Amino acid sequence: MDSIGDKPVRVRFAPSPTGYLHVGGARTALYNFLVARKAKLNGDEKASFILRIEDTDAERNRPEWTEGIISSLKWLGIDWDEGPYFQSQRSDLYAKAADFLFNSGNAYWCSCTREDVDSRTKGSATPGYDRYCRERGVAKSQNSVLRFKVPLNGSTTVNDLVRGAVNVENKNIEDFVIQKSDGSPLFVLANVVDDIDLSINLVIRGEEHLPNTFKMALIFDALRALYSNSEATDSPTYAHLPLLVNEKRQKLSKRRDRVAVEDFKEQGFLPQAMINYLALLGWGPGDDREFMSLDELTELFELEKVNKAPAFFDEKKLRHFNGVYIRNLSDEVFSELSMPFFDKAGLRFDLEKWKIMVSVVKERVETLDDVPKMVDFLFLESVEIDENSKAKVLNQEKSAEILFLARESFGKATWDTDVLKNQMLAICEKLDLKLGKAQAPVRLAITGRLIGPPLFEALVALGRDATIRRLTSALEWFK
Ligand code: GLU
Repeated sequence: MDSIGDKPVRVRFAPSPTGYLHVGGARTALYNFLVARKAKLNGDEKASFILRIEDTDAERNRPEWTEGIISSLKWLGIDWDEGPYFQSQRSDLYAKAADFLFNSGNAYWCSCTREDVDSRTKGSATPGYDRYCRERGVAKSQNSVLRFKVPLNGSTTVNDLVRGAVNVENKNIEDFVIQKSDGSPLFVLANVVDDIDLSINLVIRGEEHLPNTFKMALIFDALRALYSNSEATDSPTYAHLPLLVNEKRQKLSKRRDRVAVEDFKEQGFLPQAMINYLALLGWGPGDDREFMSLDELTELFELEKVNKAPAFFDEKKLRHFNGVYIRNLSDEVFSELSMPFFDKAGLRFDLEKWKIMVSVVKERVETLDDVPKMVDFLFLESVEIDENSKAKVLNQEKSAEILFLARESFGKATWDTDVLKNQMLAICEKLDLKLGKAQAPVRLAITGRLIGPPLFEALVALGRDATIRRLTSALEWFK
C-alpha cells in the first residue's frame, strides 16, 4: 500500500485512553506506522501516520492513561508525523456534523427510555432499537438522543483488505445513537468525522470494530455533502486486524491475561523484541524469517498479507525472542540496561562483581528482570538455601566430601576460573564423580539454588572469603 489512488497515504492510530496500551493496540499502532513508513520509503513523501486520542468519554478517560499510551508508543519506537489530536478539543466538529445529519434528514431525535424500548421489543426477533421515533418528529430536548436514520433498503458493503468485501443488509442495522442527550458525540460519529476531517484514507484497526464500520460507512455517505469541497470524499479503505488470543484460544483480555505494554517494559522486555514479535501477530514475510529489525519490517510488511485467523499471543515465544535480542546486545549496553533492574531488586550492588558476570549472564536470561535473580547471591551477606534442593544434596552420595575437599582446595588456590575448575576436576577424579554432579553441592552452598550461572565465574565474582564462609556453613548441614 504505497499510496491510495494518487493521494498520499494517511493512516492513524486512535486509542481511547481507558487503560494501558494493550499489546493489541500496540500491534495496530505498529502496522499503521509500518504502512506510513513503507509508503515514504517508496517515494510517497507526504505519507503520514497520525495519532489521535479518542477521549470523548469523560467518565472512562483519564489523562494518565493518555500519558501512559504515549510513553509506551515512544518506548516501542513508534513515532507519529501528526498529532496527537484530542477529540475532547474538537467537539464543535462533531456537533456541526450532528446538526448537518439532522438537518439533511439523516438523523432524528428520540425520546425513548431504555425501559420503553425493552417493553416494546420483548420477545422480538430483531434486537435493538425498534425505530419507534423515526417518523414521530420528536423535538430536541434534555432527554432526547440523536439517532441515525439507517436506510431501510439495500445493503452496506465494506471493502476490507484483510477480510475482502463484507456486506450487511441495512434492515439489520439499528437506528444507532450518534449524539447523547448532553450533546456529546458517540464514538461512531466522532470517529468518522475525524477520519474525514483528517483526510484519513486507510483505516487499520482491530477486528472488534468491524461491526461499527457499517455504521460508519453510512454516516460517511450521509456526511459527504457537508464535506463536498474537502479532499475526503472517498470513504477510506479498511483493514481489520485479527483478534489476539491466549493459549486457550480465548480473546486476550486485560482481566485474565498480561497485556499492558508497560508491564512488559517493567519485566525487562526490550522494545526491539516487542516490536519484532508484535509484527508477527497476524503477519509474516512469507518465508521462515522471524527475526527482523524495524527497517526490515518496514521493507517487508504488507497489509495485504495479514491473516484473518486469530493470532496467538504466546508469551513464551516473546520471552524467547527477548532472550535472542538480549544476547545480541553488547556487554556494555546489556549491563547498562540491567541497572534499573538491580535498583528495583534492592540489592547492595557491586560493580566489580557484576563485571565478572555480565557476559555469562547475558547468555542465559530471557528478560532483564531475570538478571538480578540470577546473581543476587553475589550481593547478599548470606544466601537463603532452597529447602528442596538441600534435601536433594543431603541425599546425594559424597556431598559432604565434595564440600569438604572444595573448601580445602579453594582455600589456597589462585582465584581464577580455570584454576578453580581444575581443582574441581581433581576432586571429581578423587571421588570418581562427573563434574555436573560434583558441582551441585558447591553451587547450592554458594548460590542457595541448584540452577544458576556458570559456577566458576560465580566463585570468582563472589571472592574467596565469602566462598569459604558459605562452604563452611554448608558443612554444618551434615552434623
Ligand atoms: N478508539 C478506538 C479504540 O480505541 C479506535 C477505533 C479506530 O481505530 O477506529 O478502540
